[in-house]
Amino acid sequence: MKMQIVKHQLKCDFYGCKNFAKYGFSTKGFIRRDIVFCEDCMKKMFECFSKISVPKPVKSPFKLAKAKKEKV
Ligand SMILES: [Zn+2]
Repeated sequence: MKMQIVKHQLKCDFYGCKNFAKYGFSTKGFIRRDIVFCEDCMKKMFECFSKISVPKPVKSPFKLAKAKKEKV
């Protein structure tokens, strides 16, 4: 699965979410089109995933960079 920044104005695919999508996942034809999520839903999912798949706290540069961005 490949992640990319969504360039078109698409609505987030998360159920009940009305934000515009920011991140897209290529499904390679598995579903008609790509799956897209907004930043909020991505964050929520990321938190869920990290709780499930990574028992230890993760201190990846990616996460730190993101936290810095939020403060600005
Ligand atoms: Zn969303």
